[in-house]
Amino acid sequence: MIQVQKFWDGLSILYDGMVRQFLFTGEGEALLVDTGFAHSQVLAAVRTVTDAPVKVILTHADPDHAGGLGDFGEAWLHEKDWPLVKGNVKLHPLQEGDVFTCGDYRLETIEIPGHTYGSVAFVDWAKKLLLPGDSVQKEGPIYLFGAHRNVGLYVESERKLLDRAAEFETILPCHHACPIGPEWIGRNLEDAVALKAGQLPSAPEPGMPCRTYRGRWTQFYSTEEDIRR
Ligand SMILES: [Zn+2]
Repeated sequence: MIQVQKFWDGLSILYDGMVRQFLFTGEGEALLVDTGFAHSQVLAAVRTVTDAPVKVILTHADPDHAGGLGDFGEAWLHEKDWPLVKGNVKLHPLQEGDVFTCGDYRLETIEIPGHTYGSVAFVDWAKKLLLPGDSVQKEGPIYLFGAHRNVGLYVESERKLLDRAAEFETILPCHHACPIGPEWIGRNLEDAVALKAGQLPSAPEPGMPCRTYRGRWTQFYSTEEDIRR
């Protein structure tokens, strides 16, 4: 069951206890960031807020973010994540600098590959708002295992966000605590650098094909193979 919370005027947060979506609304228009799991019924939750046509943009295409895409039919997604999308949906390319407006909001796309090769963040500079998908989180665990992830690129992308961290006040992650402050960018980066350098203690994660690596601030799900890639 999805809970719908009005966060700011024209911005609602949808949350099923596992993953969030972000719904922007304006006069006769709506912009949705991510679509949840296939079974989450995000469209029904959107319809409790607005009857307007909904444009969908995706932070990345893991199944908890793009699973519900079939109910919407089309979306803007970075082409490097297109192979992860299942089913018959119309995809539009998404790249650095692409801008989406809705009501009062103006979201600019920033490419941040690593969590997936096609991961992006959306930023409203005027509102000092960052939607980082899964790439910035309070504590994690952040998923960095499997063929469609890259730890080295993740480190570079966190550095790219850190360069502009002073311009963010509010970060809305898809998992765990929300909202969080921009200090988590540097914390996730510090721990990811240590992960890449092989410096984090780890233990097998029961029931998952990976290990849990514990940084000072952040946990990661990863493997030795993923770290070396
Ligand atoms: Zn996720």
